[in-house]
Amino acid sequence: MIDLERVKNTLRLNHKSLTKSRILILEKLSLNTPLEMKSLIKLTAKEIDRASVYRNIQLFEDLKIVSKIQIGWKYKIELSEDYTPHHHHLICEVCNKIIDTKDLSAIENEINKLALKNSFLAKNHQLDIIGICSDCQKKMIREKISDR
Ligand SMILES: [Zn+2]
Ligand SMILES: [Zn+2]
Repeated sequence: MIDLERVKNTLRLNHKSLTKSRILILEKLSLNTPLEMKSLIKLTAKEIDRASVYRNIQLFEDLKIVSKIQIGWKYKIELSEDYTPHHHHLICEVCNKIIDTKDLSAIENEINKLALKNSFLAKNHQLDIIGICSDCQKKMIREKISDR
């Protein structure tokens, strides 16, 4: 679960408070990250109207509490790296599923080396891998077989 005290402080510094709706949105996001707006709206529909979900997400984005992952012309919302551990995404271009990567040490080492080689002080990086997830690959093979 997201560090709510930290969110509260960030909001307070911007003269906002941690309302019930804001807590609920953050809860849903930390349990189901990343989420499409559509799904977030559905998950909170009983308590919050659509317009306030959009407003709150905009606020969270401005305060760098959440970030958007762009998939083509669509996007999904996740907690920003200030609030979740560093990770990379594997994005399926067929079903839009996003898998968070876990084993990073090799990639992180190479990125640091690359920065060092260029005397560059690296602070942050993003790396998304676009492709086809294993479920969609299986489906494609099945469809190919039934085509024959
Ligand atoms: Zn897929
Ligand atoms: Zn990384």
